[in-house]
Amino acid sequence: MHITGKCHCGAISFTATVDPKRVLVCHCADCQTFSGAPFRAVLPTPAGDVVMSGAAKHYVKVAESGNKRVQAFCPDCGTQLYATEADGAPKVINLRLGCIDQRDQLVPVAQIWGESAMPWLASLQDVPLHGKGLASPVMSTGGSDRAPSVAAPGTSPRTSP
Ligand SMILES: [Zn+2]
Ligand SMILES: [Zn+2]
Repeated sequence: MHITGKCHCGAISFTATVDPKRVLVCHCADCQTFSGAPFRAVLPTPAGDVVMSGAAKHYVKVAESGNKRVQAFCPDCGTQLYATEADGAPKVINLRLGCIDQRDQLVPVAQIWGESAMPWLASLQDVPLHGKGLASPVMSTGGSDRAPSVAAPGTSPRTSP
């Protein structure tokens, strides 16, 4: 699958040929801190299949195990773009899902580091979802088959006398 992507300010962009069946969600604490979000998603792609344009800044993260990983981001707008090996020429580029234009078509196949996943993620679907900002209409409140505001006749015990 051919994809395109870019940082928020546009200084860095990329194209790639990816395997859409390799998307991972990572719930590790480092991903939470780096992204400022509850979790991150990546699409591992052979380095030879990615064409980058623009110069990303590299931060080398050292894990407890001593393993080093390059975290690449735009030096101007801070958008996280990818992670890759710190030693030698990169073999695999873990593209950040959030900066890929076709991200809505890239469905995760696995989640890792569940031990540090936010405990409330499973119930997120029960939280009101607005179409845009808080002032916009609610699209859904609750799971697939639940319809909280519409009760079938005769099945509303709360309003019984
Ligand atoms: Zn940028
Ligand atoms: Zn992670």
